[in-house]
Amino acid sequence: MSRVGVVGAGLGGLAAACTLAARGHRVTLFEKNDWLGGKAAVLNSHGFRFDMGPTILTVPRVLERIFAEAGRTMSDYLDLRRLDPQWRCFFESGAKGGLPENSVMDLIEDVPAMTASIARFDPASAKGYADFIAFSEQLHTISEKFFFWRSVESVLDTMDFKKNLELSTLREVMGLKMGTTVAGQIRRRVPDRRVQQMLDHFVQYVGSSPYGSPAVLCSIAHMQTEEGIWYPIGGTQAVPVALAALATDLGVDIRTGCGVRRVATEGGRAAGLETETGETLRFDRVVSNMDSVRTYNELVGGVPAATFNKRWQREPACSGVVLYLGLDRAYDHLLHHDFVFSRDPEEEFDWIYSKGEPAPDPSAYIAAPSRTEPGVAPPGGEALYVLVHTPYLRPHHDWSKMFPAYRQVILDKLKRTAGMGDIEERIVFEHHLTPQDIHDRYSVLNGAIYGLASHGRFFGAFKPGNRSRDLPGLYLAGGAAHPGPGMPMVLMSGWIAADSLDQDARANAPADPVHA
Ligand SMILES: Cc1cc2nc3c(=O)[nH]c(=O)nc-3n(C[C@H](O)[C@H](O)[C@H](O)COP(=O)(O)OP(=O)(O)OC[C@H]3O[C@@H](n4cnc5c(N)ncnc54)[C@H](O)[C@@H]3O)c2cc1C
Repeated sequence: MSRVGVVGAGLGGLAAACTLAARGHRVTLFEKNDWLGGKAAVLNSHGFRFDMGPTILTVPRVLERIFAEAGRTMSDYLDLRRLDPQWRCFFESGAKGGLPENSVMDLIEDVPAMTASIARFDPASAKGYADFIAFSEQLHTISEKFFFWRSVESVLDTMDFKKNLELSTLREVMGLKMGTTVAGQIRRRVPDRRVQQMLDHFVQYVGSSPYGSPAVLCSIAHMQTEEGIWYPIGGTQAVPVALAALATDLGVDIRTGCGVRRVATEGGRAAGLETETGETLRFDRVVSNMDSVRTYNELVGGVPAATFNKRWQREPACSGVVLYLGLDRAYDHLLHHDFVFSRDPEEEFDWIYSKGEPAPDPSAYIAAPSRTEPGVAPPGGEALYVLVHTPYLRPHHDWSKMFPAYRQVILDKLKRTAGMGDIEERIVFEHHLTPQDIHDRYSVLNGAIYGLASHGRFFGAFKPGNRSRDLPGLYLAGGAAHPGPGMPMVLMSGWIAADSLDQDARANAPADPVHA
């Protein structure tokens, strides 16, 4: 078995460490921050508790599989609650397409029930919704077959050439509708602009524009309708806490407050890690949960970084501003998850993804977790989390100057569109994250929340593979590696990195000279 060093204890790093330890490898996990879980961090203050990063947990099957690797049952570590309706959507009057007044729509998990709900105001869109979910299911099935649970970097990695000529495979490839976009697939089925905008927002889970993302990402909708949205009691932070407990049970050596500054190489392969304190430790193989582009450029360098950079010139995904608002009142008309939509999605996405500036009329995501766990706020209060996507950091963006005005844009949007007219008077505690904070806290690429953007009609869904093509013995886990960002995908990326490493260690024992 190998001695493995893991750089970073985000969800991807923790998932990799647990899976490797469960398979008998000796794992040391290095985290530069003094908490585990990376973006899945928590903020406790003045009697309020906020998840600081991810709040929407989908596809819990991935997490279950990581516990199952070690012969454990996830429910012994985590108390997950299913949320349905999944989101409440708020739309503003006067929007493009002419809504006469503000309106509200709930996204219901059950597809026939949601279809019936849409049919009450637009039968054509109801049919279109059902058709879209059927299309999404088809794409999800193809993704499970060709794309998930293995290291993939390009379309060639998805194919088994012996089977390639089979008619069924060709039919599946045609079914991917390559060359078309998420927005295009939605608009050709659904006439109602509110339903369109609601469906568009599934690609916000990967921080990309529906107008630039390939149709295969329509599969995200079915992942959510099929397996639901879940809330871990204790907040999202309960997920890294559970994984850290599992890692500790499995003997992983966890070192917090210990940054890594270099991947040491020997004979053209990864052979160890140098910490920021100057200590060098030998490892047979290395997993990096640091952003993949920064891993190559800052930890590896030389020829591997040059070859990697030649293949990967993708833009970062979007960043965001998060407000953590402790309120002295609850807004009972909110659900646990809410979206407050912009008036014009095309214009909004153009600002964020093309112009590279914050949208003047943004969409906001709100979490009001006291609906499910009242203890997150003092009695009668609300621990409100508000996230607005922004462009990734550009050189001229100085968020210390931009934040005050944009905070007001966000609060005005909530007042106008989501019935929260008195919100400013109700704030008794406040904290925030800007793109610069996200950049500094999590060592990401240009403040990107979701790794690399998924833009590109043909190959936008592909990300750097989990088994490095550029440096043998290096494996990548996290949102900027395959299969991409979001909790279920980064957990899967950790599993794939570990599985690839484990396969290589078993198949190629001489490559691990010390512990073969
Ligand atoms: C505001 C916000 C909201 C989000 N909302 C959702 C949501 O609702 N649902 C969802 O599924 N996803 C959401 N996401 C995305 C999700 O959080 C991420 O995709 C996921 O948590 C990223 O995990 P990761 O494994 O890539 O690592 P990260 O969380 O990025 O962690 C990487 C870790 O590596 C450490 N590290 C980096 N470099 C080094 C080094 N050199 N040495 C040592 N340690 C290092 C960092 O300190 C960090 O702890 C959100 C993210 C944010 C920020």
